[in-house]
Amino acid sequence: MKICYAASEMAPLIKTGGLGDVLGALPEAMQKQGNDIKLFLPHYKSLDTSDHKIKPVASNIKIKINDQNYPLKINKIRYKKNNMEVYLIGSDYYFNRDGLYLDPETGKDYSDNDERFIFFVRAVLALLKEIDFKPDFVHAHDWQTALIPVFLKTDYGNDPFYSNIKSILTIHNLAFHGEFKPERFKLLELSDKLMMPATGAFEFYGKVNFLKAGIIYSDYITTVSKRYADEIQTKEFGCGLEGVLKERKDDLYGILNGVDYKIWSPSRDHKIYTTYHIANLSGKRTNKIELLNELQLPIRDAAPLIGIISRLEDQKGWNLIKEVADDILSMNVQLIVLGTGQKEYHELLESLEKKYPDKCRALLEFDDQMAHRIEAASDIFLMPSIFEPCGLNQMYSLKYGTIPVVREVGGLADTVTDYGSDNCHGTGFVFKEKDSKAMLTAIKRAVDLFARKRTWTKFMKVGMKKDFSWSRTAKKYSKLYNNLLNSK
Ligand code: ADP
Repeated sequence: MKICYAASEMAPLIKTGGLGDVLGALPEAMQKQGNDIKLFLPHYKSLDTSDHKIKPVASNIKIKINDQNYPLKINKIRYKKNNMEVYLIGSDYYFNRDGLYLDPETGKDYSDNDERFIFFVRAVLALLKEIDFKPDFVHAHDWQTALIPVFLKTDYGNDPFYSNIKSILTIHNLAFHGEFKPERFKLLELSDKLMMPATGAFEFYGKVNFLKAGIIYSDYITTVSKRYADEIQTKEFGCGLEGVLKERKDDLYGILNGVDYKIWSPSRDHKIYTTYHIANLSGKRTNKIELLNELQLPIRDAAPLIGIISRLEDQKGWNLIKEVADDILSMNVQLIVLGTGQKEYHELLESLEKKYPDKCRALLEFDDQMAHRIEAASDIFLMPSIFEPCGLNQMYSLKYGTIPVVREVGGLADTVTDYGSDNCHGTGFVFKEKDSKAMLTAIKRAVDLFARKRTWTKFMKVGMKKDFSWSRTAKKYSKLYNNLLNSK
């Protein structure tokens, strides 16, 4: 199969979250199965090409937006891990900025994000033709590239080069729609019918909604866990798009993300202080001691270390944590948090660090190496999300022998089972209610069990044996890709 991946992130070149991790692994897994892959990314200022030879690609393509012509600066790299071709689409005007989606100075989305991703998507489509790579389908991701399925069936549909290219759209997080003011619709240069109230594919309560149109126009839609695929068809989780998703339910699939165990395994991870293995867990203790030393926290063997790595957003359950933060820290525990996000949670964490100097550290930044170190050093990983499309850190935690405490939603429900269930073969502590007391009870259960060292070690090993590798996920995508090519 010839496949084009178009996305706004790809780890390790550029990543702000799980989307980047997926694009760092799925194309590679599909290439291993013998498919012909090309991947397209915006060339942001902060995209890290230091490990790669970068090759400019001559092109006269200009993208017209709002009657202005914007030239492309195209570079190509052969991705080091597998020699896959990655095209970096640059623009002095649109991508030579400090942030990906928001301005770090103001913390607000760039006001022309619609234009930036119209530019990117049109550039991908133009470039496919210029390099004469006609894929069997384009696999688009989230609102940033959701316009590809739309353009393929509208604007570009009459051109024989594009007319039978199919499309898949993966929703990594339904909360982000790519929603813009109605007057911005003209930037798309599509028929006004598509913005008609109630019937227009883009129309969403008077605004322009890129994701909604992508859902309507793509041949298949996937999301990143089975549970989330069901949840997003309900009012509670559908973010207003539940009706549209229900209408497409026969073409909507939940495929759990995989873990790239080359990057996230304690036995191979060179970002942690020392590697360790299920057969000899002494290295895990070393990691804990080293991290506590680095962060100048006292070493207290009896106190479990709770780790959190997350965006500091309501989605990740920070409102629950805020309500009972003092109750958590009054237990015999230590807490290390790595993350950035909403100001109120930055303030909360700064105040907790001051109030509990020997128990709490708040690292308010994005630091990949520190994320690995926290996974390796922690005893418990807390992830009480309000909704969670897939979630990766709970799966990383299992591999690192770090017991996850999670809420029973989305991918968390699909990957972690409660300790008490399945004849004590569960892998973590799971609570159901969207409620801080329920979360606190789950944390207390974890803290109590931690005191029973032998049971705890056995429990860690059950999780460490779980396999969420990409090969399983890639097989599922492969089947879906084949269905797409054969059945539509
Ligand atoms: P989401 O994509 O919703 O943010 P996921 O759990 O799917 O959540 O993926 C988050 C990814 O981003 C994980 O690889 C996690 O380790 C990483 N991550 C999140 N916050 C940070 C941070 N502050 N520093 C380093 N890595 C982070």
